[in-house]
Amino acid sequence: MIGKEGEASKVGAALATALKITGNSLCFCGSGKNWKSCCGANSTHDPVFIESALRAARAYKNSQGVIVGIPVGIWRAFEKASLNRFSCLFPGCREKPVSCHLVPENALRSSYGGHCTEYRMEDGSGLRFVRRGIGDAGCLPVFCSRHDNDLFKPIDPMKLSSPTQEQFFLFALKAVAFSLRKNQYLLSIDSQMEIVRPFLIQEKLNAQHGSRLTIDISHLQDQYIRYNSCFKFYKEAIEAYASEAWDYYSTLHRVISSTRPIFLAGLINPSHDLHLRKVNHTNEPIVISCSVFTAEDRTHILLSCPKGLSQDLYRDFLRQLETADDRTFKTVVNNFLTISAETLLMPEGFEMNDDNYRKVGAAQTHARLALKGHAALDLCDRRAAIDFI
Ligand SMILES: [Zn+2]
Ligand SMILES: [Zn+2]
Repeated sequence: MIGKEGEASKVGAALATALKITGNSLCFCGSGKNWKSCCGANSTHDPVFIESALRAARAYKNSQGVIVGIPVGIWRAFEKASLNRFSCLFPGCREKPVSCHLVPENALRSSYGGHCTEYRMEDGSGLRFVRRGIGDAGCLPVFCSRHDNDLFKPIDPMKLSSPTQEQFFLFALKAVAFSLRKNQYLLSIDSQMEIVRPFLIQEKLNAQHGSRLTIDISHLQDQYIRYNSCFKFYKEAIEAYASEAWDYYSTLHRVISSTRPIFLAGLINPSHDLHLRKVNHTNEPIVISCSVFTAEDRTHILLSCPKGLSQDLYRDFLRQLETADDRTFKTVVNNFLTISAETLLMPEGFEMNDDNYRKVGAAQTHARLALKGHAALDLCDRRAAIDFI
């Protein structure tokens, strides 16, 4: 409990209004439930708060006096608590998820040995590539052990020679599931941050100036929209899985010789094609599931479009990628990897200099703005991309 009785739920309600959430919208806490039967339920006085994380935040605040920003340590406490509250992502399963490997451990081990480099939040310095043990590189609590095994056993990259349509499907499903879970917990942390922030930061000010609460939700808005589309794409994919509709995804599979081993799985949504033509003129989200993995000195790039609007609108783009020469294709993939660096596993010792970090930031901002109708991001621009492959 923070603030006075009911104050947190008032901020929660204000947050919902600001995010244009109504009764049947997905709740901002990332639970996967509707707002009216989750944090917006009349019976709950408080939104779904993570008590232990809040206590830590409170204690920090008391030791600091007035806080001007939320420190990474507090963020971490929310992260841990957020991850703990989710159950297995398989529909209807109530089991606790285990720590699932985005890339099977044996595949990572045979390419990287005991450690690799992963891009993640580091205390005090923001997002960096840091050294990680293979045992927990790229891991997230997504499925229970039974569903993790059942779903992904057929796609051990070490045993893939010529992938079947079912295997293509499973790679795409895995990328979607991991993206959804990641979005869920990030949204859960950030929405709670926004509810807590006025209390932590402004409590002292409020005592002097009355209770004026401000919520800055610009970044949260984008995140909420991403969560909604991930949720939709996952739901459709898992339905296709249930009916073994392996043709739900149309997949472009290209193989290039590898200079270094590399693994990635994530969702991308390029705004423009290779001729800088805008791809999507509708208000509906479209997506490509992207998996990159290296086996036997070859790097496989799988780009899968779900049936419907994504497939229709990205058809030409995928054809351009299919017929592009190796050099152009490599540049485009490097641009994808630069934008999606968060889900990338690199060999231990892979060095990122300041210029490369700048490229990641610039590419991500550019990609986001291009989606909103600003200048196109040129995926064929070699200077914008980091030479990952
Ligand atoms: Zn909720
Ligand atoms: Zn399960």
